[in-house]
Amino acid sequence: MEYDDQLDRALEETPDIDQQASRFEIPDPEVRSEGHETVFENFQDVVNRLDRNEDHVLQYLQGELGTSASIDEKGRARLTGDFRRSRMADTVEEYAEAYVFCPECGLPDTRLETQQGAKVIKCEACGAISPTGE
Ligand SMILES: [Zn+2]
Repeated sequence: MEYDDQLDRALEETPDIDQQASRFEIPDPEVRSEGHETVFENFQDVVNRLDRNEDHVLQYLQGELGTSASIDEKGRARLTGDFRRSRMADTVEEYAEAYVFCPECGLPDTRLETQQGAKVIKCEACGAISPTGE
């Protein structure tokens, strides 16, 4: 506990962008396997927090995990195959790195836009427009 207190204090004394970015907490994926599928129970919570299109997030998961996936009537993502929570959490974090956090200032106050046929991250905090490679 004392260690945590010290850590909190240390963070408070360093007002840098890492601290701001760390305040942006993505819900931990809740996953369970069902038959040959993995059900991502709180997919909508994660998508809402990321403030991105659910299909775009799903596409990314499919690409990174090398599987097929769909969104069911309850808004849960269902992925073919068995994936652990940690793997899912890593993949969601990679998505956030690629499409949510501004590469210039590190803040998550961004929007995805299409400019001249390419997806870009437009940052509302610093105004930077960064290509996503899409
Ligand atoms: Zn920025």
